[in-house]
Parts: sequence; structure tokens; C-alpha cells
Amino acid sequence: MINSISVLGSTGSIGTQTLDVARNLNIKVEALTGNTNIDLLESQAREFLPKMVAVKDEKIANILKERLLDVNIEVIGGIEGLKRAATLECVDVVVVSIVGIAGLIPTLEAIKSKKNIALANKETLVTAGSIVMEKAIEMGVNVIPIDSEHSAILQCLMGNNIKDVSKIILTASGGPFREKTMEELNNVSLKEALKHPNWNMGSKITIDSATLMNKGLEVIEAKWLFGLSQSQIDVLVHPQSIVHSMVEYKDGCVMAQMGSPDMRIPIQFALTYPERKGNDFSKLNLLKSGSLTFEIPDTKRFPCLRLAYQALEEGGTMPVVLNAANEEAVSLFMREKIKFIQIPNIIEEAMGMHTLIDKPCLEDIINVDIWAREFVKKSIN
Ligand code: NAD
Ligand code: MG
Repeated sequence: MINSISVLGSTGSIGTQTLDVARNLNIKVEALTGNTNIDLLESQAREFLPKMVAVKDEKIANILKERLLDVNIEVIGGIEGLKRAATLECVDVVVVSIVGIAGLIPTLEAIKSKKNIALANKETLVTAGSIVMEKAIEMGVNVIPIDSEHSAILQCLMGNNIKDVSKIILTASGGPFREKTMEELNNVSLKEALKHPNWNMGSKITIDSATLMNKGLEVIEAKWLFGLSQSQIDVLVHPQSIVHSMVEYKDGCVMAQMGSPDMRIPIQFALTYPERKGNDFSKLNLLKSGSLTFEIPDTKRFPCLRLAYQALEEGGTMPVVLNAANEEAVSLFMREKIKFIQIPNIIEEAMGMHTLIDKPCLEDIINVDIWAREFVKKSIN
């Protein structure tokens, strides 16, 4: 059982739920990090009394420093603060709950400092899975997924041999637009896209769930976490979000992991792995959950899932372009500069214009990320 954690992105959906788990299990929180939400960071700092708080914006960091003068907590601004939080000596596990590729460098820094990682940030593995997993093996640290589907796969693999797996089946809720026709998708609003049927999450992943890009990113995440080939990773739409994912073995046995759709359950498992601890989170009642149904995802209406499989097949830097173009397109949609259905078109265009680098180093990945973002911004103006 671990004693202490750093929570990178403590003000977000996963971050605040991680603090809830830490509160329940009496885990010491030694570092908190945030972006702009200064009031929440201050109240978290006063409750958990960590060694340090990192804030991306230097100006906000200075204001927080003033506010926290009466308690002995160091406040550090900029990327340096994030790096310190990721590498603090007294910490056993670094929880990475930052959104987007911004999670990549702190994750690598934490691994280099021999920290075990509880990883919510899927964009890290999508963009640099090979580098991150190789480094984790070299340093002898675990990368334990928080993402509910990957937590499910990890649990279905326990006590079995990965060599006996024929395939894994990631489940997808289908998002708020699962039943919409092509014509209806043409006119969906930002407000509708932000209303997820089963999960309450940060805005970027909520839009990704509506386009099915979230599942596409998770296919790539699964490849790196479990060392599977693309043909071994299937997706089924399961609107009830009760079966969190499945593993099919070569003898025909299928293991499924089920539970209430409450992210604190996989967060807690990532922190107690391989052990389990009690809690008072809602328990699954199959008598109340109704029928469990499954359907094939429709990649005509939701092309983002097809694009993610394509990026995975092309390999190299293509998933970096997929991710960066998606981050930019989602940001444009959230500022109501583009329509929902333009998101996959923009990503496909960026992928089509990219000259692939087969075995990229970290610098290549950062440069391609910048290129794809610029490409999307220029193509919209
Ligand atoms: P969120 O938007 O609610 O929170 C993001 C956190 O990251 C905030 O604390 C924010 O301050 C911080 N942050 C944002 N940009 C940053 C930057 N450039 N530098 C430093 N910090 C920054 O997001 P979320 O829903 O909690 O998702 C976090 C990650 O977890 C995402 O990668 C998401 O895909 C993944 N995830 C989330 C859920 C969920 O239920 N929310 C489930 C599975 C996986
Ligand atoms: Mg997920």
C-alpha cells in the first residue's frame, strides 16, 4: 500500500476524485498542481497541506503564494513547478490527471525519477507510447491505468498470461449522439455535446466521447499498455457503461469487469494495486441496471474512431498528428468556431498532409505536435 502521492492536475475531474480517494484511504498528498482555478487550489492546499503546489501561470502562482503565506507550503510557477511535483523525493506514486499532451513531459520526468505512475492522461501514451513504456521498463516502474476500460483490462488479465489473450474488447458508451442521424449531427450544439449520458468528466474528454475519438485514443493507449497488436483490439458500444471492458482468451473464455460508472473505483484500484480496499462508493445492483446491450460502432457517423485505427496502423508520428489536430479541433468547437462534424474532417486533413517520421524521438514528437496545431489553426482562418 502506498503512503504518499503527487496529483498533477488536482483541480480537474480526475484530480478532485483522486483527492476524494486519498481522503478515504488516508494517503498523504505531497504535491498539487493546477492551471487557473486558484480558489480550488487554495482550498485543496489548506485541506491536504502538501509540501508544494505548482501553478502553470507565474502570475497566478504569485497570487497563490501570497494567499498561502500563513501555511508552510511552497508555491512554484511554470513548467519547473510541474516537474518538481512530478519528481518529489517523498512521493511513491505520481497521479497524472492533466489533460492533453501537456501531461507527457511531467510523466517522463516522474518515470526518470523512478516514480510509479497512476495514469489518467491517455494523450501521453497516444503521442509517445513507445518512449514512455520503454523508459518505464528501463527504470523498473509501473504505469497503472486509471482509464476505466484499461483498468478493466488490467483486472481481467490478473492471474492470466498475456500470451493466451486472443483479443480485448473495449466498451464505449456511444456518447450523447449515439442515436443521431448524419443530418442531425450536422446541427448539434456545443451544449448538447457537453451532456454525457453516463459520466461527469472534463470538457475535452466529454467532446471526445461525443465524437468517439475518446475510444480511438483508448485503442492506441491499450496497444502501449498491454503490448497488443491492432488486430487484437476491438470496440463495442455498450450504452449502459456497466461492463467496463473485456478480455477474450484463446480457449474462448471471456473475462469482463463490471461496476458502477464511478471513476473513483478505477482511481482507487490504481492506487492500491494489486490489493483492494473497502470504500462507500456506490455498488453495482444488476437488478436495477436493466438490460446490458452491445452494438458495433458506426464509423460512418463517427469517423474519429476510424482515423485513430488508421493512425495506429501508420504508426510513427501519425498518432501525434491525430492527437494534436484533435486537441485543436475540439478547442475550436468549444469556442464555437467550427461545427461538430468538422472535427473529423480537420483531423483527416492534417493526417493527409503529414510526412511521417517512423521512429520519432521526443523532440520529433514535440515538433510534429506544434506543426499539426499550426496546420489546423491556419486551415480554419
Ligand atoms: P479536466 O479538464 O477536468 O482537468 C484537467 C486538469 O489538468 C486540471 O487540473 C487543469 O488545471 C490541468 N491542466 C490543463 N491544462 C494544463 C496544462 N497545459 N498544464 C498543466 N496542467 C493543465 O480533465 P479530466 O476530465 O480530469 O481529464 C484528465 C485526463 O484524464 C484526460 O487525459 C482524460 O482523457 C483522462 N480521463 C478522464 C476521465 C474522466 O472521467 N474525467 C476518465 C478517463 C480518462
Ligand atoms: Mg475511458
